[in-house]
Formats: sequence, C-alpha cells, structure tokens
Amino acid sequence: MKAVCWFGKEDVRVENVPDPSILNPRDVIVRITRTAICGSDLHLYGGFIPSMEQGDVVGHEFMGEIVEVGREVRKLKVGDRVVVPFTICCGQCWHCKHELWSCCENTNPNAWMGEALFGYTTAGLFGYSHMTGGYAGGQAQFARVPHADVGCLKIESDLPDDKVLFLSDIFPTGYMAAENCNIHPGDVIAVFGCGPVGQFAIRSAYMLGASRVIAVDRIPERIALAQRANAETINADEVGDVAEAIKELSGGRGPDACIDAVGMEADGHDFLAMVDKTKFRLGAQTGRPTALRECIQVCRPAGTVSVPGVYGGLVDKIPMGAFMNKGLHMASGQTHMIKYMKPLLERVERGEIDPSEIISHRVPLQDAPQMYQTFRNKQDHCIKVVMDPWAERRAA
Ligand code: NAD
Ligand code: ZN
Ligand code: ZN
Repeated sequence: MKAVCWFGKEDVRVENVPDPSILNPRDVIVRITRTAICGSDLHLYGGFIPSMEQGDVVGHEFMGEIVEVGREVRKLKVGDRVVVPFTICCGQCWHCKHELWSCCENTNPNAWMGEALFGYTTAGLFGYSHMTGGYAGGQAQFARVPHADVGCLKIESDLPDDKVLFLSDIFPTGYMAAENCNIHPGDVIAVFGCGPVGQFAIRSAYMLGASRVIAVDRIPERIALAQRANAETINADEVGDVAEAIKELSGGRGPDACIDAVGMEADGHDFLAMVDKTKFRLGAQTGRPTALRECIQVCRPAGTVSVPGVYGGLVDKIPMGAFMNKGLHMASGQTHMIKYMKPLLERVERGEIDPSEIISHRVPLQDAPQMYQTFRNKQDHCIKVVMDPWAERRAA
C-alpha cells in the first residue's frame, strides 16, 4: 500500500510499504477513505518529538471502511464505515473505566519510554513516535486498528466523510479544551491560535454557553474563519501588545478562561521568544511556550488556563508567580476522545455544526510532502488538508 512515511526533520515521503494485517484478535483493518494532516504532525515534521524512526508511517486523523475483523471483535463487521480516534484504548484499565481514555495504561508497548519522560505512560497513539507505541498511522491506504470495538465510531448516516472525519481528533480536542474552561453563562473566553484546533475551540465555547470569544492569531484567513464563528479577533501583528488588547476587550478584568490552542511551536518576537529559540537550538529546551505564557499572564484572577496545545518535554520561563498569585486553574491533556465522539457526531447529524467548513485543501495522498510544507508555512491560505489515499495525483 501507499503510506506517508517520516524520514527526518522536514522530510516525509509517500512510499510503498507492506499492507497491515490482523496481529491481535481484537484488531480490525480499515481501508482508509479520508485522512488529514494535523498541527500535531507538524511537531513531528519539525523534529520536535523524540523517538521517531526512519520509515515510520504517520497520520492519526482517519476514517474508512472495515475490510477485515479479528475473531474477538464483537461490535463491528466487514463493510462498517468508521471514524477512528487517534488514541488507542483498551476499555478495561482504571483510566479507561473512568473515561480518562487518553491515559489508558495498556496500549503503549513502549510504556517505559513514557514513564521515563512523564512519570507514567499515556495511551498508545497512531503514527506518533515510538514513545507512544510506534503504531503505524493513518496517512495510508490501510491501517490496523487495535481494540477496535472500544474506539471506532460507526457512521450509520450518509453524512459525507468531510463532515465526520474531524471526530477523529480536532473537533473533540477543541470541545474538550472548551469544556475544561468550566464555562458559565456570561463568560468571556480567549482562544490563542486560530488553527483547526482553535477553530473548534471557538465553536465549542459558544456551544457550551460562552457569551463572548476573543480569538488571537496573525494569519488573516484563519482570523476571518474565526470571525465567521462570531469570535472577536485580534491580529497579533497589528496590535502592539496582545495582552493589553485582550484586557481592553474584557472590560479590564481579563477573560474568565484562556485556551492555548498553539502548543510548543508558538511564534513570538519578545525577548523570551529569542531565549526559547536559542535554548531549543542548544537542546536545553523542547518547545517555545509563548502562547502559554500569554494565557497565564492575561487570564483573570481565579480563572482557568486550558491547554490543548501539545508540549513534549521541558519548556522554560513559565510565569508561576502569576499562576500562583492569581489562583489560576490549569487543565490539559491528549483528548479523552471516546467520551466526546458520539455526542459530537449527534451535533453534526442535527446540523448544529459543519466541521468541513475549515477544510482549505482536498488532495491525493501522493501530494503529502508538498502539503506538509504548505500547511506548516501557512501558504496558499492553507487551514486544513484532507487527503484521499485512493485518488490519482493531479497532473502537474
Ligand atoms: P496549527 O499549527 O495549524 O495552528 C496553530 C495556530 O497558532 C496557527 O494559526 C498560528 O498562526 C497560531 N499561532 C502561533 N503562535 C501564536 C501566538 N503566539 N499567539 C497566537 N496564535 C499563534 O495547529 P492545529 O492543528 O490547530 O493544532 C494546534 C495545537 O493543538 C498543536 O500544538 C497540536 O499539536 C495540538 N493538538 C492537540 C491535541 C490534543 O489531544 N491535546 C489534538 C490535536 C492537536
Ligand atoms: Zn491531531
Ligand atoms: Zn485502558
């Protein structure tokens, strides 16, 4: 089959690799009909995530049709159409039983790596380094899905792939980010980053009752898409001081909650951002937490900082003084996918939201190397790339 493989920093290629096969009786094989590139894939592309190996198949946002089932699969059959969550969950451990799905204790065969870095392992993840299990990902024509009964979301309506694909990650991720803000009627929520995750965080904050959402980015088309969801927007390139602009928009008190939908590769132009870049080059730090710092600084006292943005290891100069003295709360995590997929599918079915509105590029899988670059560099008005693993490449 064809699959997108990682070969190093800024080097992904479409290669021919062996088709996956059933390894465990609870596996299914999915013939993938749609797959997407995530902001998290950019962290792999940028060389920020350790324990990648040359030839690893990447991708964790995918859906398709089941073509083979293991003998202990109970709820799924050949021909079912499914969306696959990016986390692999056993359904049996303490964390799964408590709906803390992304902390599953049983699905990372390299748990020791996670333990060394984080104290405890997280769940296994598709296409996301050996530290999270080394599972082949879904930017491919087929994928093996372990513990398929637990994770796969069956799509029984005729909604097109483009409307349900993002239930595999970014819609639940934006939703959990907003839910973590513990929104009360009247609340003002600030969202840093208007990428795909930020877009779903904005829409979810309104679904959960926020009265105003203030969104920050510097890419005009992403800001425009946030405005279409009724966000009040700040272009960081146009205001001198983002924190001051947010303070002004929130009546001087600051937002009730701030969402860092940027993560470890934030842009920044201040002194600390320069320090971040230098320390990253020297290997003394593994990310640039500019947006996280701003969230902590600008949030109102006793408010909440919600962090869907991904961090890998150590970041520096986090304003703990502001965090402690203001009595902030912080919530984060890889998304507890299975808790959200079905209820959010129902919202799509009821027409409350059309997730496909964020798609800017629909391309054949073969175009992945070019599209990683376009998406990373925010060129060609790129907001979200969806790939068809079976389409022929367009004529150049
Ligand atoms: P993206 O890279 O497309 O979007 C990030 C956006 O942030 C861009 O539009 C960029 O211009 C903007 N930005 C950069 N620096 C900024 C700053 N200082 N202030 C304000 N905006 C800034 O990525 P995405 O797909 O939207 O993902 C966002 C983050 O969410 C990534 O870190 C990704 O890894 C993470 N993520 C987490 C989960 C999870 O389970 N927690 C799931 C999916 C994605
Ligand atoms: Zn993702
Ligand atoms: Zn589990």
